[in-house]
Amino acid sequence: MRVLLTKHILFPAVQFLLKNRCWDYYKELEQTQWYSHEEIQQLQWKKLKTLLEYAYKYVPLYRQEFQDAQITPEDINTPDDLKLLPIQTKATLRENYPHNSIAEGVFEKDKIPNSTSGSTGSPFEFMMSRQLMGMRWGRYLRGNTWTGLNIGEKYLRIWGPHGKPFTERFSIGFALNMKELSAFGMDKQRMQEYVEYIKKYNPKIIEAYASAAAGLAMFINQEGITDVKVDAVITSGETLFEAYRREIEQAFNCKAFNRYGCREFGAIAHECSEHTALHLNAESFFIEFVEDEQTANTGLYKIVLTNLDNFTMPFIRYEIGDVGRPADKVCPCGRGLPLIAEPFGRMIDIVMSPSGRMVSVHYLTLLFGDYNEYVKGFQATQTQEDKLEVMIVPSERYNDDIGEVLRQKVQEHTGDDMEVTFIPVAEIPPSETGKRALLKSLVD
Ligand SMILES: [Zn+2]
Repeated sequence: MRVLLTKHILFPAVQFLLKNRCWDYYKELEQTQWYSHEEIQQLQWKKLKTLLEYAYKYVPLYRQEFQDAQITPEDINTPDDLKLLPIQTKATLRENYPHNSIAEGVFEKDKIPNSTSGSTGSPFEFMMSRQLMGMRWGRYLRGNTWTGLNIGEKYLRIWGPHGKPFTERFSIGFALNMKELSAFGMDKQRMQEYVEYIKKYNPKIIEAYASAAAGLAMFINQEGITDVKVDAVITSGETLFEAYRREIEQAFNCKAFNRYGCREFGAIAHECSEHTALHLNAESFFIEFVEDEQTANTGLYKIVLTNLDNFTMPFIRYEIGDVGRPADKVCPCGRGLPLIAEPFGRMIDIVMSPSGRMVSVHYLTLLFGDYNEYVKGFQATQTQEDKLEVMIVPSERYNDDIGEVLRQKVQEHTGDDMEVTFIPVAEIPPSETGKRALLKSLVD
């Protein structure tokens, strides 16, 4: 009943209220996901060509880039040709904002400002149209259904504050049958309350920051609580480390689904119920995996994305700040959307040793995940260029020998030019933001 109400009354009403076509876009995406790989590529390339021609004509920044490269959009006919244009970063787009990066002649109503929170540096401002907001919701809804959810079934979100306007948040939240809890300040008492709430509300799906879901899951597992059951947990906003996934799946008696996205673009890729890898939302994104000196010989690449839908402020070859790699697999689900291996982390999850070796939080979570009977939590900080301090929360079974084994493993990972020290602590304080940095650097 609630599902029918959502589909036939609430979402059409939301579209009317928000003056965007979120529900129509969702229904379109439900169709295009079954296109063949070739059909998807054609659709993608056609949209990319349109965007390049538009940017050349109307966006001063890109017009200049084309001129500097002495080419026009007609010269770009293959993915290799696209490399003739330079990569944009937050820094280059910030320098050109707004006059050179916003398309000329865009209506004021299609200049909806947004910005990244600045948790990973200073805030980054950008703009998008009302219709693009709808498309973002369309992608979000499709990803939700890949977990088996019927839109309109009970949905719980554990999240931080978001910059979305109240009307949008309220109307879509209501249509989605969504309740929200705060990911901030999740201490033990708060987590106990959340467990009670989940049991009572009985949502089909929980969506949360990966670290918030994992934190709650660890609490549930440690307390021996076995009667929390949902159909799926969607994590987003942060990397879903393998160790997180294990905790979450055990605690909630279900599969975890990784949604990869960011504030600039919304949902970029999502796991389907086969869990082969993440399907790129290829109707909206053209992806490139770029090797440079930072990622050389790591098997990972910098992720560079072109958003095919933003005609207010085009993002063409935008280095998003994450590393990943393509997945060399075919998903049995039959969707033609290309697969990417799980993004291995934000560049912020990575620190550099003096010799330029990449120390990855992914390595640390796997290591401590394997030794979780000895170590209950960790946080690593690069305090000086050649010093890595690792705070660990030892369990009762921990001893100095185990500590030294672990320290040596981390030492091997960083290389000899970093000094690795372990500092046992009783507890790692939760951060104010709701997100926990497992690895950070105090070095610029
Ligand atoms: Zn699939």
